[in-house]
Amino acid sequence: DRIITAGATREDEAVEASIRPKKLSEYLGQAPVREQMQIYIEAAKARGEALDHVLIFGPPGLGKTTLSHVIANELGVGLRQTSGPVIEKAGDLAALLTNLQPHDVLFVDEIHRLSPAIEEVLYPAMEDFQIDIMIGEGPAARSIKLDLPPFTLIGATTRAGLLTAPLRDRFGIVQRLEFYTPEELTRIVRRSASILGIACEADGAAEIANRARGTPRIANRLLRRVRDFAQVRAQGHIDRKVADDAMKMLKVDPQGFDELDRRMLRTIIDSFDGGPVGVESLAAALSEERGTLEDVIEPYLIQQGYLIRTARGRMASAKAYRHLGLRPKTGARE
Ligand code: ADP
Repeated sequence: DRIITAGATREDEAVEASIRPKKLSEYLGQAPVREQMQIYIEAAKARGEALDHVLIFGPPGLGKTTLSHVIANELGVGLRQTSGPVIEKAGDLAALLTNLQPHDVLFVDEIHRLSPAIEEVLYPAMEDFQIDIMIGEGPAARSIKLDLPPFTLIGATTRAGLLTAPLRDRFGIVQRLEFYTPEELTRIVRRSASILGIACEADGAAEIANRARGTPRIANRLLRRVRDFAQVRAQGHIDRKVADDAMKMLKVDPQGFDELDRRMLRTIIDSFDGGPVGVESLAAALSEERGTLEDVIEPYLIQQGYLIRTARGRMASAKAYRHLGLRPKTGARE
């Protein structure tokens, strides 16, 4: 696995429980999202109603799951968690929905992966707190209507464009998570270090934050790897130098790029003359899946201006050439 993968690893999940923020005040960064959610939550509580349905989108590891737990916690309600591909039959969804307590949160991760048939069941559930399900088969089959307790659906997805329009339209609140700034990530690293009892200087935390690709999950993972290094080489004490040495060992460069990022930029430059190259050809050249490329590798490269997405495909920017120690090709965009 890549040390800087934004997806959750088994090890991440084991430590999530202790460091995952539980209150809005512990949810660092994402100021506009936090402010808005605070108001919506307070208003819903004051009216004694379920919070409107919430759609959260943003690349992996930015805090979608965490935010949904924070919301349920701040509302003082229960949370049930599932994901799009797990719900195979209408009955699975019906079982989940009918087991909710009034005002509970149902969190559906990867909501864009729900099957069309399940989406159909979800619409009246979201709109009228009712579901129609078919029972029996053949001529004996009949449809029954079930009333549901008022609930809040929180859907998470990596890109809003993946959702069908009718589903997207049924969310009253839509929040988009942005990559975190190095300062925000520094605060997150320091908070995690203090919870995990790791001695980490401010400059050490900043060094880790700079390489964490704007992503809290990566920041927390790098912190754990740097801790291992510090334990063996520096009496467990993390400062800038220790963090820097550990990152060198991990082959994570000062921009937070690893071999795969560099390979992707290099492939565009060497094999496709800097692009534009279609995402399918690029995925084939890298032996990676198109989805991995689009969801995991390129968002950060694009946000940082190393990769440019055009109608004709991906292009390496002048910055990408320079990062690899090359002279930008004539006409390369900044
Ligand atoms: P996603 O669901 O978007 O993939 P998660 O919610 O699982 O991401 O976040 C990954 C980890 O990053 C969490 O366990 C948590 O420790 C940390 N994290 C995410 N967002 C924040 C935040 N705003 N403040 C502090 N830590 C965060």
